[in-house]
Amino acid sequence: MTRPLALFGGTFDPIHNAHLRVAWEAAEALDADVRLLPASVPPHRDQPRASAQQRAALVRAALAGQQRLVLDTRELQREGPSYTIDTLAEVRDEIGTERPLVLLVGADAFAGLTSWHRWRELFDVAHIGVLTRPGHEGGALPTELRTKIASRRCADAASLRESAAGRVLPIAVTPLEISASQVRALLAAGRDPRWLVPDALFANPDLLAPYREG
Ligand code: ATP
Repeated sequence: MTRPLALFGGTFDPIHNAHLRVAWEAAEALDADVRLLPASVPPHRDQPRASAQQRAALVRAALAGQQRLVLDTRELQREGPSYTIDTLAEVRDEIGTERPLVLLVGADAFAGLTSWHRWRELFDVAHIGVLTRPGHEGGALPTELRTKIASRRCADAASLRESAAGRVLPIAVTPLEISASQVRALLAAGRDPRWLVPDALFANPDLLAPYREG
């Protein structure tokens, strides 16, 4: 089996150090390359503060200087809502039927999976890696989701190499209580979210400007 490819989608409004660190730890845990995919129009939530292009520019700046985490802008090029099932299907077409594909989601996002467009089909195209997140430990999952994943759960990353899709793996990552909402609130209050986001985001004053404007 080839190395898995992992996709980490999000609004990234803006990207912060927890996104980066948990993606990095997942890359190491799975021995995978990880693509970060900013959603153009996230279907599940309020519309982002910054435009899709601005959020992609933030991700690009944050990822400079390393190769393991890569920006993938495909959702920005598609019209309409960024449905994960469409993205996974597109990537699956590109990589073929054999290579393990892993969708990375935080525990909070995973708990809401049943509200995602065609959520049951996600398991047909990818594995799901559930990243631990402070404040979202061990909460009860909706019954439908629990039933769906009951026979899919696995405990080690090696199991994800045995098939191309369909398993669910919890991935314990360093608990970092950082959120994009917190970063936006600091910027809106005229404060600097220093060391909650990478230094590279301060290098160009335009990058964080959308969050500073009143
Ligand atoms: P907001 O505060 O605006 O809701 P966020 O910080 O949750 O934003 P998103 O872009 O919505 O960031 O998250 C993208 C993905 O990253 C989601 O799967 C989310 O669960 C995960 N994630 C975000 N922050 C963390 C964190 N601190 N630890 C683990 N996973 C995280």
